[in-house]
Amino acid sequence: AIELVGVNKWYGTFHVLKDINLTVETGQKVVICGPSGSGKSTVVRCINRLEEHQKGQILVDGVELTNDAASVNRIRSEVGMVFQQFNLFPHLTVLDNLTLGPVKARGLTKKEAEERARHYLERVHIPDQAEKRPGQLSGGQQQRVAIARSLCMEPKVLLFDEPTSALDPEMISEVLDVMVDLANEGMTMVVVTHEMGFARKVADNMIFMDAGEIVEHGPPEEFFGAPRSERCQKFLSQIL
Ligand code: ATP
Ligand code: MG
Repeated sequence: AIELVGVNKWYGTFHVLKDINLTVETGQKVVICGPSGSGKSTVVRCINRLEEHQKGQILVDGVELTNDAASVNRIRSEVGMVFQQFNLFPHLTVLDNLTLGPVKARGLTKKEAEERARHYLERVHIPDQAEKRPGQLSGGQQQRVAIARSLCMEPKVLLFDEPTSALDPEMISEVLDVMVDLANEGMTMVVVTHEMGFARKVADNMIFMDAGEIVEHGPPEEFFGAPRSERCQKFLSQIL
């Protein structure tokens, strides 16, 4: 499980995260939504130590994350992240993008890493794109490569930060379909997204953030059926 206990973060004097309490149990899917600037990315970036928090605790399987290298390495090896902008290496082929981590960080041989890479390319439905460079793929294909790259590291948890917001509308569903498959296979997931159809399908827990706070949380039926706060009602009425 990942637990955030009273997590606070400031950028200078700006209080960006205010007492965030959140637990993600193994196998759970948590979807985070909320207006722009509410702190959604900051929460997931704190979980995998792309950002540091200043107060409170983040625990992974009961062990507190600190900022020393061993702790950062531990979380990065257990938690994968998929970004809005794919973050693939443009000069490497798809296959090399996928084998780099497993060879460098997991000690797989090139051959083992390639077998694993081809397996996950199959799983994201692009087995025939292995030799191309990212620039030769559509946005939806690039994002599926990015998901496959994360899976190649065999993480315990996957974090997604608006994985479909940079995509043309017709490519969104091919990425969401892959994410639904992962969810159904039992992957533990934290997903920042405004794709509420996806959220209804997979979320165990919906989180609504506004101005650095978790304003509302609960199972999707409750969350969509009867949002309690005015801020959440307003947000949902704008995006649904
Ligand atoms: P969006 O939906 O636009 O992605 P978000 O909910 O992910 O928004 P964050 O990116 O977490 O929001 O940012 C929260 C707040 O922190 C915003 O007001 C943002 O301007 C501010 N912020 C983010 N990164 C930094 C930084 N490196 N330095 C200072 N302020 C920052
Ligand atoms: Mg964001």
